[in-house]
Amino acid sequence: MNELVPLLIRWYETVRKPLPWRESPTPYHVWISEIMLQQTRIEAVIPYYRRFLAELPTVADLAAVPDDRLMKLWEGLGYYSRARNLKKAAQVIVSDCNGELPGTADELRRLPGIGDYTAGAIASIAFGQPEPAVDGNVLRVISRITASSEDIALEKTKTNVRERLRAVYPVGREAGLLTEALMELGETVCLPNTAPRCLGCPVCGHCQAFATRTTDCYPVKSGKKARRIEERTVLLVKCGNRYALRKRPDAGILAGMWEFPNAAGHLSGKEAVEKCKVSGKVAEIRPLGTAKHIFSHLEWHMIGYEVHVIAEDGTLTWANADEIRTDYAVPTAFRYFTGLLE
Ligand code: SF4
Repeated sequence: MNELVPLLIRWYETVRKPLPWRESPTPYHVWISEIMLQQTRIEAVIPYYRRFLAELPTVADLAAVPDDRLMKLWEGLGYYSRARNLKKAAQVIVSDCNGELPGTADELRRLPGIGDYTAGAIASIAFGQPEPAVDGNVLRVISRITASSEDIALEKTKTNVRERLRAVYPVGREAGLLTEALMELGETVCLPNTAPRCLGCPVCGHCQAFATRTTDCYPVKSGKKARRIEERTVLLVKCGNRYALRKRPDAGILAGMWEFPNAAGHLSGKEAVEKCKVSGKVAEIRPLGTAKHIFSHLEWHMIGYEVHVIAEDGTLTWANADEIRTDYAVPTAFRYFTGLLE
C-alpha cells in the first residue's frame, strides 16, 4: 500500500480537472460539494453548487436561510434530507464552534449529516489530515488491488479498508490529493459494472486482480433488497389559472416540500378527489397519463388527473405555474406533473 501512494498522487496531478470547489477548497466549500456529490453526478452538481454558494457564501448564511428557500436551492438534486442536515449542522457550527468547521474527522462526524466518508473527505482535503474517505469507488479499487474476497456491503470491510489506508496516509496537501486520486481512479479508470481500464491505470503494476486476470471477480458484494413499489394518484387541481399545492409533513420522505394533492393507490378521478378532500365544487375531471419516480429504496408508480374546480379550497395553497416554478420547492418526483402546468 505504501508504494501506491506516490504513484496515485503523481498520476492524479496530471489528470486533475478544474472544478468550482477545487478553486478555493475551504472547509465550507469542500463540505457543501461533498454533500452535493453524494449520489449525484459532477456535471449535475456544478450549477447547484455555484447557485448555492452565490446565495449562501458562509456557514452563518446557511444557518439562517429560511427552510423554503433552502429547499428551492436544492430542488432537483434529490435526497432532500441532505439539505436539511446541512442547515442543522451549520446551526451547530455557528452556536458551538464560532462559525468554523472543526478540523478533525472525529469532531466532523458529530455534526448532522456527516458520516465517515464526508468527515474523511473534509479532514483530508480541507485540513490536510491523514484521514481516508472510503466510499463505494474506493472500496472497489482497494478490493481489486488486493484481490480481496471480503464483502464490500459489510461495515466491517469498510472499517478494514479505512484502517489499511489510514496507515499509509500522508499529511498536508498530499492527504487531500490522495483522497481525490482514489475517487478519480474509481470514477474514471477502475470502473463499476464494466471492464476496468487497467492499461491506463497508474497502479496496474501493483494490482493483484490485474496480475491474476480476475478483475471481474472483484469487488464481492452481497445482493441489495428489491425496491418497494407504491402506486399513487396525483391531482392537478385547477381553479382559473392557479393550481393547488400542499406541504408534505415535516418528517419522512420529501419532508417539508411542496406537492400536488395525491393519495395512495391507483384510483378513479372521483375516488382521488374524495381521498384528497378536494372541496370547491368539481366542474371537470380528466386523466393526465402516468409517471414513475425511483427513490433509492422505493418506486412511485403514478397516475394523474386534472381536476377543475370553480372555487379555491381554503385548506390548500394556490399558485400559478410561474409562481410554482420560481417560489415553491416541488420535488423531482412530480416533474411529469409540473411539466403539464400551463
Ligand atoms: Fe482497477 Fe485495473 Fe487499476 Fe487494478 S489495474 S486498480 S483493476 S483499473
